[in-house]
Amino acid sequence: DTVATAATATVETHCPYCALQCGMGLQRADGPDGPAVEVVPRPAFPVNRGALCGKGRTAPELLAPGARLTVPLVRDPASGALVPADWDTALDRVAEGLRRTGAVYGRDAVGVFGGGGLTNEKAYTLGKFARVVLGTSQIDYNGRFCMSSAAAAQGRAFGLDRGLPFPLADVARTGCVLLVGSNLAETMPPALRYLTELKENGGRLIVVDPRRTRTAEQADLHLAPRPGTDLALALGLLHLVVAEGRTDEEFLAARTRGWPAARAAAMAHWPELVERLTGVPVPQLREAVALFCDASSSMVLTARGPEQQAKGTDTVGAWINLCLATGRAGRELSGYGCLTGQGNGQGGREHGQKADQLPGYRRLDDPAARRHVAGVWGVDPDALPGPGRSAYELLDALGGDVRALLLMGSNPVVSAPRAAHVEERIRALDFLVVADVVRSETAELADVVLPVAQWAEETGTTTNLEGRVLLRRRALDPPPGVRTDLEVLGGLAARLGQRTGFPTDPEEVFEELRRASAGGPADYSGISYARIAAEDGVFWPCPAPPTRAVTGAQAAGGGPAGVPAHPGTPRLFLDRFATPDGRARFVPVTHRPADEETDAGYPVVLTTGRVLAQYQSGAQTRRVAALNAAEPGPYVELHPRLADRLGVADGEPVAVVSRRGRAVAPARVTRAIRPDTVFMPFHWPGAGRANTLTNPALDPVSGMPEFKVCAVRIERLDG
Ligand code: SF4
Repeated sequence: DTVATAATATVETHCPYCALQCGMGLQRADGPDGPAVEVVPRPAFPVNRGALCGKGRTAPELLAPGARLTVPLVRDPASGALVPADWDTALDRVAEGLRRTGAVYGRDAVGVFGGGGLTNEKAYTLGKFARVVLGTSQIDYNGRFCMSSAAAAQGRAFGLDRGLPFPLADVARTGCVLLVGSNLAETMPPALRYLTELKENGGRLIVVDPRRTRTAEQADLHLAPRPGTDLALALGLLHLVVAEGRTDEEFLAARTRGWPAARAAAMAHWPELVERLTGVPVPQLREAVALFCDASSSMVLTARGPEQQAKGTDTVGAWINLCLATGRAGRELSGYGCLTGQGNGQGGREHGQKADQLPGYRRLDDPAARRHVAGVWGVDPDALPGPGRSAYELLDALGGDVRALLLMGSNPVVSAPRAAHVEERIRALDFLVVADVVRSETAELADVVLPVAQWAEETGTTTNLEGRVLLRRRALDPPPGVRTDLEVLGGLAARLGQRTGFPTDPEEVFEELRRASAGGPADYSGISYARIAAEDGVFWPCPAPPTRAVTGAQAAGGGPAGVPAHPGTPRLFLDRFATPDGRARFVPVTHRPADEETDAGYPVVLTTGRVLAQYQSGAQTRRVAALNAAEPGPYVELHPRLADRLGVADGEPVAVVSRRGRAVAPARVTRAIRPDTVFMPFHWPGAGRANTLTNPALDPVSGMPEFKVCAVRIERLDG
């Protein structure tokens, strides 16, 4: 039984926020406002070993009825306001709005937008709902804005994308970590202990970041390239690897293809050119190569810095090429990995809410994949829609050929690039439905708002940044008036004529997901709730034993009699990569400028990111008192030299202006940033919304927007 009923029982579960998915215990601590829980450590869970950041510790605050939505809201045509409604009224209105839009404009006029915070069961059901009930190809999710470039680059090079192809614990035991564009000391603080242990074990840490972040302060070597030039930086390092004879020829011959073209591309990026492009001095490039190659094992880990660029796939590809050329991939304690951001950023991209994918991380345009999944769903494969648009393209089409949108677990009014334009597109919709826990900035624009249950109120699985499938357990009932996302989708499916196939019990959904994923790249068919509970998580791929179809009867660790259960796969690629011939692929990449270079009108580079006390669009964390007190609003970080030139004092409000708009926030003057760059966190709406400024230029491979680099000017606000 995964639900605690005794007042003193501790329910073992996981944090609702980031991709580390820290283990935590929840104990009932009912108070004057009704049922409640408090967080207690769960030291036996291996990833965070009891440690939590402030976001995780305070997560129960949002469970209180006063802190969140508890009643459906519908737009009153007379007053124009959102007013309370009962569930039947709200769901009837949603079903009618979606049905009417499809009937008048065609099925692809109905869009669906999901989130990387949804559990695997929800992501799976949302994708199925879009394709089977709505019959639309227009579904994507906010994970496209998170790590899609790394996913595309890993798929290209290794034939498979799993954020980290090894457990996080390996990071502490390798010889050198090259961490590119990650400030994990703030974004996932318990993970910092692995870097601390790395150094205690004699390992070396190189951090690449235009800012001297709390993470960069831990580094043996900090390289601070100009934003948008880390592709050139990786090529410069690879050039030196070749020039200094540090390639692993045996590995290149036995386990890779395509090295000559990648080598030629790197040799065109000589160190002095790379210094000019990046601002990183040649001696630092040489030092980085020495640290990386002198270690007996080494890793490159990337996060949003290199990934959120209009050349993100090639940038990550350049870092992968460095690993491959030096034989630092597909070996114990070596390799490339992506530190995925959102809570279920990994699982969210595997189960079919992505525009181009079906469950099991299958391609939607693969006829065999369509046949398999259609068979599980009991539909005609030819009736399944084809691939749709990527997230920004979908948002940009709202009010155009996409006339209605069902949005779950996302707040694009704050988190999308060129956010003022996205907000305008959302306002242009005929019909918007938002299912959310809180009345987010996007929910404010909806025609119907559906209040849904949260992490501690419902059971479900997530897959953390290591590919470890985890079980979040229900610790208390949702407040009266709140339903789960699965209940919402089941209720809508029934109203739209699909009375079966949309169970509301998460374990029942997971059993179907197992069958749908069987044989796919992300194979969950050997994983059950019972196994996850018994083993503290199971790494995919984990196929079911081949001699029997998967059934709910296959319990903890158990395959059919005499057939051992698959143990799961903590480490990928040790024998072969997931390409048809088992060899990794070099993709030759070359430096190119950011989509938007600085010029006389916009002379400074803006880069954006996250801070310790807030999470993503801030829709949840801005409502938690302690987090809001710690980081109450946006700011603009700038170097004293830039501040002097502009005559700006610390704390003084400034306007940051890009070609897309203007944001106003107080200046924070610090030497921890390059003089040619400013930084803004993106967690807030309104006048200080950083994403008003960001550039929606898209990576042609992944569809990732260029969040991390755009050209701006800073204006003083005199008077
Ligand atoms: Fe939650 Fe991430 Fe903080 Fe862990 S690091 S407590 S998963 S927000």
